[in-house]
Amino acid sequence: MAIREMSEEEVRGRVRALLAEAHPDRVSQFEFRGKQYDHGLAWVHFPEGYGGLGISPRLQAVVNDEIRRHAETVYEDMQINPIGIGMGAPTVLTHGTEWMKKNLLRRVFTAEDIWCQLFSEPGAGSDVAGLATRAVRDGDHWVVNGQKVWTSLAHISKWGMLLARTDPDAPKHSGMSYFLLDLETPGVEVRPLHHLTGEAEFNEVFLSDVRIPAERMFATEGEGWKVAITTLMNERTAIGGAASRKGGGSIGALLDLWKARRGLTAETETILRDRVARLYVEAELLRLTALRARAAQKAGNPGPEGSISKLAHAELNKRIWECAMEVIGDDSLLYEAGYRRRRPSGESFATRVALAKYQFLRSRANSIEGGTSEVMRNILGERVLGLPGEPRTDKDVPWKNIPRSA
Ligand SMILES: Cc1cc2nc3c(=O)[nH]c(=O)nc-3n(C[C@H](O)[C@H](O)[C@H](O)COP(=O)(O)OP(=O)(O)OC[C@H]3O[C@@H](n4cnc5c(N)ncnc54)[C@H](O)[C@@H]3O)c2cc1C
Repeated sequence: MAIREMSEEEVRGRVRALLAEAHPDRVSQFEFRGKQYDHGLAWVHFPEGYGGLGISPRLQAVVNDEIRRHAETVYEDMQINPIGIGMGAPTVLTHGTEWMKKNLLRRVFTAEDIWCQLFSEPGAGSDVAGLATRAVRDGDHWVVNGQKVWTSLAHISKWGMLLARTDPDAPKHSGMSYFLLDLETPGVEVRPLHHLTGEAEFNEVFLSDVRIPAERMFATEGEGWKVAITTLMNERTAIGGAASRKGGGSIGALLDLWKARRGLTAETETILRDRVARLYVEAELLRLTALRARAAQKAGNPGPEGSISKLAHAELNKRIWECAMEVIGDDSLLYEAGYRRRRPSGESFATRVALAKYQFLRSRANSIEGGTSEVMRNILGERVLGLPGEPRTDKDVPWKNIPRSA
């Protein structure tokens, strides 16, 4: 798709026209975000009519900046519907049917429909192409049986992106198909799994004779891996490339803790000051790198280079919260009252606990979710730097002949 030229000033003018019509401080999330979509300011690089203006993705930062300047209420995409907005929407746009584009995109952006990603299984995480959930054709439906795991937000989701095996005789990457699953379908059972934070953000999902209409397949039968790559590339960019404001996000929270420090010895303070300053510099470098990557992305879906910011973000965020615990000192050993088995709901997910000790525990997952740091390094080595690939002995073997446990 050709990119349309538009100046920053024109984009800012369009945002001001939106705010004059619907202002986030005065109308509901659904109304404001719906209007944002209708004005083409949801994903500016999407085509007109689908929440965009067909302009460079770099200009999305201008939209977000202009909204922040004029409104106190800011709905962060990654807070209200991270999987739907960051991964579902580009997958629908790239591989979905016209029905999907017309009926799903707006409700994804407003977060009227929350989305989840049904990829990982007990025996298939990093090697997701080895998955075993089966989909068998039955007339104008597919019948799915299997189990997914670590499915974030499945308990509040309307739609799931489901990767399942449709041809066990084919090699693992070519025997999969990709479905849009309505989580309210009979046979879908969602059970909570608890993190070390005490929260049950993700789930096990059991699928027993779940019937999916044939037209809810993305691309065509056997092309599931191609579609999954679109989802995964966007996931890495969404996690690592969501540049917050300068001095915002985790590093902003660390600075606040630093300013409120008490009870540290002079020696500890000297050492920690150095660490806080270094982390600030690294966070700023990462923010600028993410902005540069966004500017370089002309249009369409991100490539393997998205793994750079995913890897850097995961490792930096963990170090920021480790440092925060040291700034807090002995008190960091005690978890706040209220440690209990929380479940993010549509509403509380948006106003999620912003407590440092919670964040420290939650950040441990950053180098696992969305692909582990080891796997990111493999992708960077092979697909960005062009180093020799890992030996892959099962690549051309029919999936059914690959040994696996259970
Ligand atoms: C908070 C959180 C949320 C998640 N949400 C979702 C979700 O919504 N949907 C979903 O489908 N999944 C989700 N996941 C699952 C996540 O994608 C997987 O946990 C991840 O891909 C790793 O898979 P695994 O847990 O099976 O670990 P494994 O793949 O078994 O890996 C175990 C260890 O081996 C290493 N390893 C594996 N292969 C290689 C290799 N080739 N080279 C070097 N090292 C390797 C890994 O880095 C890791 O250290 C979530 C995970 C977390 C923690």
